Amino acid sequence: MKTGIIVADIQGDFTELKDGPLSVEGTDQRFIDEIIRNTRMLKQAGFPVIVTQDWHPANHVSFYTNHEGKKAFETISIQGKTQVLWPPHCVQKTEGAALLIDDELFDAVVRKGTNGKYDSYSGFEDDGGFETPLNSILKKWSITNLVIYGVATDYCVEATALDGLKHGYNVIVIKDLTRGIDPESTKSALAEMEQGGVVVFDTIDLNKLK
Ligand SMILES: [Zn+2]
Repeated sequence: MKTGIIVADIQGDFTELKDGPLSVEGTDQRFIDEIIRNTRMLKQAGFPVIVTQDWHPANHVSFYTNHEGKKAFETISIQGKTQVLWPPHCVQKTEGAALLIDDELFDAVVRKGTNGKYDSYSGFEDDGGFETPLNSILKKWSITNLVIYGVATDYCVEATALDGLKHGYNVIVIKDLTRGIDPESTKSALAEMEQGGVVVFDTIDLNKLK
């Protein structure tokens, strides 16, 4: 049994700290400091750390500005799947897409949503079924257990956690180190994850991870 850490989308555009266009409630300086403190603790304890990074081309399908007449947070259907139209965010190479975690605290970055045609809440694959390198990195490192935290609980954390289960990993989500976009969908996301087999802990207890 080997545990790997996945820190989801700690990027300026998703945080109140950087006044991002898609800032998630509760992502202030204190939250980011907690993310960094815990990630450092896990790294120092010897766990490999992978961060995911939303990384969209400017013409990305998920931006409402790329759909004439649409407003932010309206939904459309793409190949039968509901697509929320977000404010433009995490455009490749922009400041808002930058990670708020120091390079020394992680071992790999997995970028997602890089194809303009598909959104990708999951760190494993996008809505078009194209895989990121995440699964092959985890396999290469012989990781069997995942600890996931970051933003947003009701989108990328949930999608990554459920895909982790689908790929055969044991998955733990750390509730106090996640923040959701909407209180209701955050609550149901946590319930769905637990029903699916994700273990939800409030905080990180190193003794439980070994
Ligand atoms: Zn995105």
